[in-house]
Amino acid sequence: MANTVINTTIEEINKMKEHYKPYLSEKTPPGSVFFARKNGCVITAYKSGKVMFQGNGNEAESRIWGLPAEGKKKTPATATGKTSGKPLPDHISTMSVIGSDEVGKGDYFGPLTVVATYVKSEQIPLLKELGVKDSKHLTDSQIINIAKDLLTFLPYSLLKLDNPKYNQLQASGMTQGKMTAILHNQAHNNLLEKISPEKPDAILVDQFAQAPIYYKHLLGQKVVQRENIYFSTKAEGIHLAVAAASILARYAFVRAFDQLSKQAGFTIPKGAGAKVDQAAARLIKEKGVAALNEFTKIHFANTGKAKKIARI
Ligand code: MN
Repeated sequence: MANTVINTTIEEINKMKEHYKPYLSEKTPPGSVFFARKNGCVITAYKSGKVMFQGNGNEAESRIWGLPAEGKKKTPATATGKTSGKPLPDHISTMSVIGSDEVGKGDYFGPLTVVATYVKSEQIPLLKELGVKDSKHLTDSQIINIAKDLLTFLPYSLLKLDNPKYNQLQASGMTQGKMTAILHNQAHNNLLEKISPEKPDAILVDQFAQAPIYYKHLLGQKVVQRENIYFSTKAEGIHLAVAAASILARYAFVRAFDQLSKQAGFTIPKGAGAKVDQAAARLIKEKGVAALNEFTKIHFANTGKAKKIARI
């Protein structure tokens, strides 16, 4: 594909012009807003809202800004994810967005961890450069390296619900879904406060519950900027703020496991499989059954299996 064309708005084109400032050419073709040359890729933006990327890396360069208008079937931003609540804005991928994601819901050991990050539209290329993408495609050591970079400049809120507190809430009748919703909302509120008076264009939640259920969980909680919150599954592929949130959450989770392993005196495994049952049984034998409260989500079926293995 020798060139890629996207359709966008004049506001977006002005943002792009700012972004390509170091590469702008003084000569602009008729009808165009700007003309830039970046590493062999020629970018021409027109008043009509069309932006053409030609030459080297045109497709990758255009992807910073949106989806191709020609040569490919136009796919909505949610092509791979399911959205609930309001439909996503067309250009959400290129907006300044607070994204949030959680980790640890399906893991017997370790805390439920939620992170929200704020990624401004002009930071998107930098995040790409740093290797931010869906954390499922990254190894633990890649996640640690990228997270360390992100922590130096990216505004975020990280909330860890440790096991004793989780077990207490669960025993009081709170569902895991409700805990997760409260943590996401709290992370949004913390981060909005942190970046204030700046406001994000949107808040994007990696959908763990449909919008109506999310809001039901939050009855009685302060929900800020409700009109700007969007939900989608696979949201780390929609905006890098969610991908960055997921990377920071995984990083915190890996560190929590290091800590738990130190406390236990042996390696604590992730997930909820047979290895986990064995590790929990060992914990019972060495530290007593009460230790489970400090290390695990007690209501998981693993507790019964571990007790059986430990013969208590
Ligand atoms: Mn998620």
